Amino acid sequence: MKHDYLIVGQGLAGTLLAYHLIESGKSVRIIDNHFKTSSSTVAAGIVNPVTGRKYTKSWMIDLLIPFALKTYKSLEKKLEIELIHHRNIIRTLPDVRSENNWFSRFSQDGYQNYLEEDPSLGQFSGMIDEPFSYGEIKQSFQVDLSLLLDRFRKMYKDNMIDEEFYHDVLKVENDVIVYKDQEFSNIVFSEGYVVKDNPLFNYLPFEGAKGEVLILHIPGFKPEKILRHKIFFAPLKDDLYWVGSGYAWNLDEVGPTDSERERLLNLADDVLKVPYEIKDHIAGVRPASKDRRPIMGTHPHFSNTHLFNGLGTKGSSLGPYWASRMAEYLLYDHPLDPEVNLNRFTPKEDK
Ligand SMILES: Cc1cc2nc3c(=O)[nH]c(=O)nc-3n(C[C@H](O)[C@H](O)[C@H](O)COP(=O)(O)OP(=O)(O)OC[C@H]3O[C@@H](n4cnc5c(N)ncnc54)[C@H](O)[C@@H]3O)c2cc1C
Repeated sequence: MKHDYLIVGQGLAGTLLAYHLIESGKSVRIIDNHFKTSSSTVAAGIVNPVTGRKYTKSWMIDLLIPFALKTYKSLEKKLEIELIHHRNIIRTLPDVRSENNWFSRFSQDGYQNYLEEDPSLGQFSGMIDEPFSYGEIKQSFQVDLSLLLDRFRKMYKDNMIDEEFYHDVLKVENDVIVYKDQEFSNIVFSEGYVVKDNPLFNYLPFEGAKGEVLILHIPGFKPEKILRHKIFFAPLKDDLYWVGSGYAWNLDEVGPTDSERERLLNLADDVLKVPYEIKDHIAGVRPASKDRRPIMGTHPHFSNTHLFNGLGTKGSSLGPYWASRMAEYLLYDHPLDPEVNLNRFTPKEDK
């Protein structure tokens, strides 16, 4: 039997794309060996509409948020789980300049929807180092990505191939893709940052951005809001908090390191005035692209070989919309936006 699609990678990208293709009646197989440093299992899953040091609205966020909510709600129903947790973000403002920048945003078009006029530290009051000042971001939410991936895998277990994919076993021919003893009409690579080792797509300008995270047990913290004070403190269940994360571009060591653990602990000590216990220390690599845009489309020489990747630091908000666009491109030949199409890059040998 020939399947319609083989998807390599069941991170957020592969999962969302598979969901659309399966819902459209296509026969899909997804291969994944669930390596520990994949991005989606380490991520906090925060959708944050106003980011960066200048408090800028994220790219396309007015469109992405409603689309993401609609998609995750439909997945919640399908998988019978709770994925979306609406939580405002308390963003501390360390000095007068930051405070001025923050307040100047209130008078700018399109920001009012996202900035709370009457911010409140709420449950954090008295439990954290008192910040110089703070603001509050609305319409932010957190998506339980680990639960999504895990439940999807169980619900669609007949579609899953739980093993490592080897490029040297793949045969790409004009009218068929052959992997081991199975035939497919198309293959889509959604393998996260290890795309750098993919012989078909290693010409694309990806740069993995590593982040390390501590999982802290902080008794008495109530999970109402997310705190961004030096680093993120994002609630998980049972008084557990996701605490992180930095950006490292050197990928010689992709697992957790002592130096980053110490840096994160120092920051946590600066912020928290209550006792905590370290429960875990994890690391993952974000599949970021040099131009900070997703990368998707079809290989320049093989019309049945595709890529959906580059969700970078913002997979939770970018993923749903762009997975849907990618599915429409594959299913109905709808054109891809040039800003995300991989044909904006040319392999060296074709130049
Ligand atoms: C520390 C950290 C914090 C983050 N926080 C947030 C956040 O708060 N909000 C947000 O929106 N985003 C966040 N992100 C980014 C987010 O995780 C990514 O945008 C998104 O999850 C990327 O998904 P992906 O499917 O492209 O890649 P991945 O999640 O890396 O998935 C790739 C998959 O491919 C599989 N794979 C690869 N090669 C093979 C092979 N040869 N054989 C078999 N399987 C293979 C892997 O096992 C993996 O499951 C964070 C990332 C990190 C690291």
